[in-house]
Amino acid sequence: SPCTNPAFGPLPRRSTRAVTIGGITVGGGAPVVVQSMTNTDTADIAGTVKQVAELWRAGSELVRITVNNAESAAAVPRIRDKLAMMGAAVPLIGDFHYNGHQLLTAEPAAAEALAKYRINPGNVGFGKKRDSQFATLIELAIQYGKPVRIGANWGSLDQALARQLMDENAQRAEPWDAGRVLREALIRSALDSAERAVDIGLPAERIVLSAKVSGVQELIAVYRELARRGDYALHLGLTEAGIGSKGIVASSAALGVLLQEGIGDTIRISLTPEPGQSRNNEVIVAQELLQTMGLRAFTPMVTACPGCGRTTSTFFQELAQKVQEHVRAKMPEWKVTHPGAENLTLAVMGCIVNGPGESRHANIGISLPGTGEAPAAPVFEDGEKTVTLRGEHIADEFVGLIDRYVERHYGG
Ligand code: SF4
Repeated sequence: SPCTNPAFGPLPRRSTRAVTIGGITVGGGAPVVVQSMTNTDTADIAGTVKQVAELWRAGSELVRITVNNAESAAAVPRIRDKLAMMGAAVPLIGDFHYNGHQLLTAEPAAAEALAKYRINPGNVGFGKKRDSQFATLIELAIQYGKPVRIGANWGSLDQALARQLMDENAQRAEPWDAGRVLREALIRSALDSAERAVDIGLPAERIVLSAKVSGVQELIAVYRELARRGDYALHLGLTEAGIGSKGIVASSAALGVLLQEGIGDTIRISLTPEPGQSRNNEVIVAQELLQTMGLRAFTPMVTACPGCGRTTSTFFQELAQKVQEHVRAKMPEWKVTHPGAENLTLAVMGCIVNGPGESRHANIGISLPGTGEAPAAPVFEDGEKTVTLRGEHIADEFVGLIDRYVERHYGG
């Protein structure tokens, strides 16, 4: 049944086994890890290195790459080495479907270079070959000391298992509806495969599970059940979430509910990039989801009012955007020189109605003049009014005040 949480804040994190992936801990109470996936052809070494490095710079702590043929498998160690030379040694996860057992056997250097193997139990092999191909993958993980993610997916569900569960369902006195049978097939696919991997000899501390679907309510139901039935670390993601605001809203709704219930050890937001849009967007959305829920802090957050008829120009929106972009751009440097700056809170408000009040709640906030107000913008620091800005250079002066605040308060 759905959780009820009478307390303020998320429920305690569910207790899971800790899995180490190239030095990054997933589960076991570690902070929820942000990960993403490239959309380049992995055989294109330069293109893949560039995108992995960009995702890593944006804040992706793990990056998954497709390994679908001999050329891409051969490229993996070179990609890993080039990233290391650039100082972007982010753990790489190989995404395998159908032929992973062959590729990893044929390319030992790729098996060694990857920090984790993603195995899809729905297409690891069919019929009689299935068990031996799955066993080969797990034995390779054991041989190279790697963790695996057993990643079941609604779109590539194990059809034999689904048929078996439908037959079983037909025998029930009160049959489940078809959706529940398919959800059960997805859950069983992940859990049974994990059990088989453990039987083969892979420690449970080297297994992450996922069972992705594209519907919000289905995803919540599936993960609540996965969490109830075991203590494997869980990778959360709404598969095929979609493009633009739909993908962001659907992912945030589904993952937000689960994270609030303490479920989920690593997340990926699967967004279809809009034409010309950077792949980094999915990393930013993942970070903002975790930060707005109070689970982690990555970059100072800007509170801004929506604006209304009391705002006299677009200056207010431009300032809010400038401030958010400024702190996001500065954060990689501040992370090293001013640790803790990611917790800074900022407010950019459009008029006197809520401006001073909201600005006082932030570490540093500004209340711009609305229609009919004196052309003055009071600035508040830690609840106290410190200065009033006027004239054409309010934006640059406010950004300067933010930098000085960080210098003073975060060890500059
Ligand atoms: Fe409108 Fe002022 Fe409220 Fe902003 S703070 S939404 S400008 S009334």
